[in-house]
Amino acid sequence: MNHWLILTCSIAYLLLLFGIASWVEKLSKRGKSIINNPYIYSLSLAVYCTAWTYYGSVGRATSSGVEFLYIYLGPSLAAPLVFIMLRKIIRISKTQNITSIADFISTRYGKNISLGIVVTVLSIAGVIPYIAIQLKAISESIKTISSVMAVGQAGLNITTTFLIVIGITIFIILFGTRKVDSTEKHEGMMVAIAFESVIKLVSFFIAGIVIVYFLFNGWEDLFVKASKLPKQHAMNELTGENIYFHLFSLMALSIFALLFLPRQFQASVVENVNEQHLKKAVWLFPLYLLLINIFVLPVAVAGSIQFFGKPVSADTYILALPMEMKSTWLTLMVYIGGFSAASSMIIIETIALSTMFSNNIVAPIFFSLTKGKDNLDKGIQDWLKTTRRIGIVLIIVLAYLFETYVAEKFSLVSIGLISFVAVAQFAPSIIAGIYWKRATKFASLASILTGFAIWFYTLVIPSIIDAGYLPHTIIEVGPFGIAILNPTSLFGMGGFDLITNGFMWSIVVNTLVYFGISLVTERSPQEIYQAELFVDVYKLSTSVDNHDFVLNRTSRMVDLETLMLNLLGKEKTAQIFASYEKRHKLELSKIEQAPPHLISLIEKVLSGSIGSATARLMINNIILQKEVGLQEVLRIIKESQEVKASNLELIKESTALNKLTEELRVVNNQLKRMDEVKDEFLYTVTHEIRTPLTSIRALSEILQDNPDLAPSEKEEYLGAVVKETERLSHLITQVLNLERYESGRQKLTKTSFDLNEALLDVINTAESLRKEKGLKWQLAIPSMPNIKGDKDLLMQVVYNLITNAIKFANTTITVQCIVDFDSVVVKVEDDGVGIAADWHDLIFDKFFQAQNQTLKKPEGSGLGLAISKRIIEMHYGQIWVESKEGEGAAFFFKIGLK
Ligand code: ADP
Repeated sequence: MNHWLILTCSIAYLLLLFGIASWVEKLSKRGKSIINNPYIYSLSLAVYCTAWTYYGSVGRATSSGVEFLYIYLGPSLAAPLVFIMLRKIIRISKTQNITSIADFISTRYGKNISLGIVVTVLSIAGVIPYIAIQLKAISESIKTISSVMAVGQAGLNITTTFLIVIGITIFIILFGTRKVDSTEKHEGMMVAIAFESVIKLVSFFIAGIVIVYFLFNGWEDLFVKASKLPKQHAMNELTGENIYFHLFSLMALSIFALLFLPRQFQASVVENVNEQHLKKAVWLFPLYLLLINIFVLPVAVAGSIQFFGKPVSADTYILALPMEMKSTWLTLMVYIGGFSAASSMIIIETIALSTMFSNNIVAPIFFSLTKGKDNLDKGIQDWLKTTRRIGIVLIIVLAYLFETYVAEKFSLVSIGLISFVAVAQFAPSIIAGIYWKRATKFASLASILTGFAIWFYTLVIPSIIDAGYLPHTIIEVGPFGIAILNPTSLFGMGGFDLITNGFMWSIVVNTLVYFGISLVTERSPQEIYQAELFVDVYKLSTSVDNHDFVLNRTSRMVDLETLMLNLLGKEKTAQIFASYEKRHKLELSKIEQAPPHLISLIEKVLSGSIGSATARLMINNIILQKEVGLQEVLRIIKESQEVKASNLELIKESTALNKLTEELRVVNNQLKRMDEVKDEFLYTVTHEIRTPLTSIRALSEILQDNPDLAPSEKEEYLGAVVKETERLSHLITQVLNLERYESGRQKLTKTSFDLNEALLDVINTAESLRKEKGLKWQLAIPSMPNIKGDKDLLMQVVYNLITNAIKFANTTITVQCIVDFDSVVVKVEDDGVGIAADWHDLIFDKFFQAQNQTLKKPEGSGLGLAISKRIIEMHYGQIWVESKEGEGAAFFFKIGLK
């Protein structure tokens, strides 16, 4: 295939990326954010899959079977755990305006500058070879496609790769340094990366399908053919006594890589716009890994069959197979897929490394020399952009040099994994650092350095030896013949492969050093303060914004302003001051000393662009008291805890208050209801009184107006007046009684009396009424032990019930008395109209008179049952009615014997 075609396609693809990125940037300027989307976020995490995945997995699968899968299995299985940690890391990074992984570690340990420098240098050293293999993948793929062309085109090949690398560099500079503040995201670049993730997945997937179903006749055909291959060419099985260590190391390594590779930190933490996106990513990301790996093994098998006995590298099978099929479009598509895998990795990794380079190395050195007094005209933004651009070019050049001059001499197979081991050295400092406050900066520094030393000794030295720069005897019998120092089997622990050996030793010693030194060294106030902010981030993140957790530092307002003008420029300074004045309702021009929260705010703003350690350096130059004392830090921590405690107290009090309010509301409603009842009662009483009064008045008037009335008539009218008066006085007595009972003014005069006798007395009293109506008694009143109670009141109840029964009965009134264990039940029953179930409760209310009542007894006031109920309740008893309409009514009351 023609180089020009490849070059054109690559450039066209890059232009497409430019197009996408600038379109997104344009949209975001208009306020439309595309990256605020969990799918884009998840896809951007897939920058984890590089050209090393794209081409290398097939290579690894060919030589070691399913072993390659463990690098994807690790992150997938651990995804829930990883994402919980990631959430905390993101939250911390947001509240502290963290710009990179070096910034994260340095900030955690008191914004320590040396730690930032160490992490940066080691990241660059560990990752540059990894970038180099991406470049190598691009040039190798170009070489593979053009291998059908005449030899002697190597020169052109280099030029093609070179041109492509320049294209990528321009892309990074344009879209990766557009914004230098960690709070502003590289929207265009991130969407382009997500797009690349789609491209590499789709092309690998399509190539896989075509190879399995078109070049071969499906999976079965493939594996049948594979089984016919001579044994030594078939897939090697995973064997060896230490295979479990090996696989475990691979999984652990890949989990650390997912968290701590600078590009992963950039994509998952720095570029994250919303913590909630993690919820989708936690399953989308493993799904992506699954999809991109489905066809790895089949392609490896297909390549082994197709190229059996031919010198075709397994790393290029995915590209060589479509070429074998003579399919130009498929070949080009696979190439573009690989190109996207390589370029996305290069882009993000370079951005991440250049940010560290400028913020953690150049900025602290530059600013400590100039003390921030250099007038930077338009602020640090431009200055930072320049240093980052220099950083980008430097990194790409280094990677390119490594690729052209060094890489050839090394076996590249495990360079990816060697990088993984390098960044795994940050694991103790970060993981323990976000959950354990006691860790110190010395511990972090020492553990990272030791880890790296072991990494270098066990992984880099053997590679150098392999390349022939050092004597081979070192890995055969150990340096100077000292076997336990043999880098490939350190301390005599043989039988491990290079990676497992290097990883296990480095991480174990690193961790031991970290915890050991933490326990024997002390933390500075600064570290104590930062440890609180990191470990308790969920508790503090709100109060930090509320300025409860702010160091008590002041500076002269003029110094602060000059610093800001120098670093942030006029516009941004004015903007920050204006919003601060508005929020705190004060005029900054009128005060001389800058308030502590303003200083913390500025430090945070500066951290977002120059990294927190450098920002702290700048602030320290202007604050009045140089050192933050231990007392001061302890005071803040205590205060913030007190605030937390008093908040809790407040919450408790307010719940108690709420409860009280609710209770009051209920009582108030009751009172209202009672008030209404009272009004109703008053109304009914006056109404009831008026009826007899009206008749009395009418009758008296007749008597007055007609003096010559016949004596019999006179007698009749006077009789009626007397009767109405009786009714009136009865009513009034009833009302007064009821009032006495309800107000509690009526005290019971309890005596022990014979109920049997008392009942018979009452029945005797009602005898005339019964006779009047021609009814008959049915009595069942056995003799029984004396009961204790207010005899007069209880008998009034019985009398009420009996008179009611007489009023309604047709033929018979039953009075019954039953002793039930320690109480007695009295029943008064009639065979009258009965009471509908709906009324059973209501008839005990004051002034209730059932609607179906036909007769009105002379003294009927509607109060009888209400009074009875009160009396029974005063005896702690119960009164109720059992009745069906038309079938008579039975009234019961039950009181205790004693
Ligand atoms: P009143 O003094 O008007 O009888 P009560 O409180 O004694 O008032 O009774 C309330 C209402 O209950 C009566 O008006 C009547 O409608 C109904 N009632 C009471 N006893 C009986 C009964 N034995 N059969 C049917 N209805 C009854």
